[in-house]
Amino acid sequence: MKDPTSQLRSATRRAKSDVANKIVSMFLHELSRRIAEHWKFRIDGEEYGKLVREWFNNKCPYCSRPLADGQPVIEHLDGMNRYRAGLHVAGNVLVACRRCNGEKRRDDSAKTLSLAESGWASFLSHDGTRCAPSCLTCRYWSGIWNDETERRTRLRENSERIRSFRAAFPELEQILPAIRGALPELLTKLYSDCQSFAENEIRILLEGLDRIAGASMPKGSEPATGGRTRKHGKVEPSTDGPAAEAP
Ligand SMILES: [Zn+2]
Ligand SMILES: [Zn+2]
Repeated sequence: MKDPTSQLRSATRRAKSDVANKIVSMFLHELSRRIAEHWKFRIDGEEYGKLVREWFNNKCPYCSRPLADGQPVIEHLDGMNRYRAGLHVAGNVLVACRRCNGEKRRDDSAKTLSLAESGWASFLSHDGTRCAPSCLTCRYWSGIWNDETERRTRLRENSERIRSFRAAFPELEQILPAIRGALPELLTKLYSDCQSFAENEIRILLEGLDRIAGASMPKGSEPATGGRTRKHGKVEPSTDGPAAEAP
């Protein structure tokens, strides 16, 4: 059980990475809009929705469970974060079950992938033969298809179906190598710049408040700071450590 102070610190860390992730996502959405402006399929169009539903037979493209059974969610094959640099464009957007969408996040948020070159292909590569026994994704798939032969076959089939779906969008296929080559480094910089900016702004605001609080104190009295004394308006350096690596 975490003590309240460490809970507070991890909440602060999470808030900081949430802000940076939001900026990365905003950038990717804007980039997607520009890139796909004149593409054949628009993801908000009726035609694209129909094509996705028919391609995957109204089933989750990862686990094949009927979408009507679960809570279907919008899913990005390449996740929209700084490592996967996925776009909100035709060929990358589809509909999946909520469970798979959540389970896939482990692969999506890994800085480097060892099982495949993309997050979605990596997610479908956890067939229980290449990871440590503790791997949660391997356990997820064995919970769905207990028999190893069936599991490997189904994962391979679904991976191939997604690959052929991708191939139906040559406009995306064409720009993918450039995106994969250049974007992760740029996005990682954007992410860390955003965190530094947020930390700096918060520090300046706190210093300003310290001065206001100091000025309103009657002479001779000191504010009670419970051991975390701030001398001469200076704020102690954060003890949060490095920022969280959450996606
Ligand atoms: Zn699923
Ligand atoms: Zn695994």
